[in-house]
Order: sequence, then structure tokens, then C-alpha cells
Amino acid sequence: MGRDVALSACDFCQIFDRLPGNAAAYRGRRPILGMMLILLAFELPAFLFGLLMGSFLDVCISRLPEHKSVVKPRSHCPRCLAPIRWYDNVPLVSWVLLAAKCRNCKAAIPWRYPAVELATGLWFAFVAWLLALRLDVGLVRRYHSYPGQETAVWLGAAAILILGFLLIGLLVMDWQTHTLPDAFTLTGIAIGFFIVCVQAIFLPSGAYDIHLNPQNQMRLSSPGSFASQGDVFLTGPEHLVFGRLLAICAAAAIPWLIRALYKAMRRREGLGLGDVKLMAMIAAFLGFAPAMLAFFVGVMLAAVYGIMLLAGRRATNSSQIPLGTFLCIGGLVAALFAEPMIAWYRGFF
Ligand SMILES: [Zn+2]
Repeated sequence: MGRDVALSACDFCQIFDRLPGNAAAYRGRRPILGMMLILLAFELPAFLFGLLMGSFLDVCISRLPEHKSVVKPRSHCPRCLAPIRWYDNVPLVSWVLLAAKCRNCKAAIPWRYPAVELATGLWFAFVAWLLALRLDVGLVRRYHSYPGQETAVWLGAAAILILGFLLIGLLVMDWQTHTLPDAFTLTGIAIGFFIVCVQAIFLPSGAYDIHLNPQNQMRLSSPGSFASQGDVFLTGPEHLVFGRLLAICAAAAIPWLIRALYKAMRRREGLGLGDVKLMAMIAAFLGFAPAMLAFFVGVMLAAVYGIMLLAGRRATNSSQIPLGTFLCIGGLVAALFAEPMIAWYRGFF
């Protein structure tokens, strides 16, 4: 399978090596030049692309909860219905130049529009920075342990990028309209699971295999022989794909059970089905443990918010708290920090 051609520098790294002020510079000799290069090659394009995607996300946020198409009609002012010209539709810039007012009827443009654009741009820039760190500046280069590893890094970055886009959108939609549209949650589950399937294709043979009876070594002496750690119960790709399916079901089951219990006890809806699908989506992208981290962070934040509302007498016992918004914040936290946080937590045992 050509798995033994390890330790070959990837094409991307080779291109980067030929540029002045490359990774070597970043590692110590010319750090500022190296950082500038990464800024120009990764973060700036990602930020600009993120702004454009944020602009599209604004359209989704305005239209999806009302079950309208996000493609047609073209963007228009919700009050005077005048179409928005391209020079008034530049992310961030137009909002500032127009002083947050429609050019035609002077209706106020909510700050939600530039805020979503900026958040998406920053998310994309941050993921690009992570990608640059992992690709060029040492990690993959030093541990080029298998040929598909570079692909794995790209796929991982793509997953976090898309997950962030969906979570920022769902966060705002649940806050403003108390809806978590299937167009984002169910599509998200499908995309996340698809990325895992592609990751499974690029898994090196033997990685993530689950063995039965690992004590008794079995050795075959036929051509193409291998030393086995016992009977393979699940191969790596099977482990990854089936494991993720299980994670999606388990992450959905927990809020679903809470929902069912609450319904049985209080005889009214406490948790929406949207929250259940949202948890499944986070698990599809990140796996079970990070999804649980997202759930924990989200519930904690929602509890703090609820207590603050009650303390300020701005809510009663029957007020609705947009839990999905807080689960989305938890999901964003988990996407960025799940690896170090879970490692830290396991350090206690
Ligand atoms: Zn207008």
C-alpha cells in the first residue's frame, strides 16, 4: 500500500521551504519574517474568505428560521425592499460607511450583521493559524510518520472551519428566534460524518485497530507477512466510522433523555428536539468526549445566565432560556480546546 514511504516531506512543505523566511526562519533565526509570511499566506486570506462566508451566514440567519430560500431573491432591505447593491454589501466596510443605515430608506441595520461577519472572519483566521502551526512550522514535518498525515491535518482543519460556521449561525438563530433549523443541524451531522469517512480512507493500515486477545502474538510467514497483535476485531477505519456513529447516537441520546424526563415530570417541553440534533452535530464533527465537554460548558453557561435573569427579576420560573445558544458556545470552546482540556482532565486519574 506504499505505507513505507514515510518521512517524505509533503509537497506543500516543499513549496513553503523555497519561500524566503520559511519555517526555519520561524523556528528562531528570523521569527518576525516567518510570522509575517504565515500571516500573509494563511491568516489574511482566511480572514477575508471568512468575512464573505459571514456575509452569507447573515443571509442564512435572516431567512432559514422563516423557511425562506437563502439563494433567491437577492439581498434587499427588509423595510423598503430596495435591492442592496454590491458596493453596499461589502462585509464590515459597508456597514461602517453607511453608518448602519439603509442607503435608500435610512432604516437601521442591526449590529448583528457586522458582528456575525467579524466573528466568522476571526474564526476562519484562527483555524488558518492552527493549520499553519500544524502543517509547516514543525509538527507535521518533524513527525511525518505516515504519508496521509498531511491530508489528516487538512481534513481536521476543514471540519473545525465548517463546524464553527454552523455553530455561529445556530448560536444567533436560537438567540433571536428560538429555532435551530434542520438545514444547519441535520446537514451538519451529514457533513461531519462524511469528513470522518474520508479520514478513515487516509488512515494508515494498523492505526486504531481493535484487537481481541492481544497477548498471543500470531506470526504469519507467507509473502507479505505481518506480526499481528492477536485477532483484529475491528480495523482502524471501521473503528473510526462505527465509533463516530455510536458517538452521534450517544450524544443525541443524553439531551433526548433529559427532554423525556422533563416532559414526564413537568408535563411541558423543556428541551427542544433542535438541541438534540445540535448535540448530534457536535459529536459528528468532534467525537463523543468533546461533545460532552460542549454539553457541560453549555449547560453551565445557561445555568449562570438563568440565575442572573432570576436575580435581576427579569425572568420567572417558566421563562425560556435559549439553551441552544449556550450549547453552541460550548461547541466552539470544545472545537478549540477539547484536546488539551480532556488531556488535563484525564491527568487526575
Ligand atoms: Zn431600506
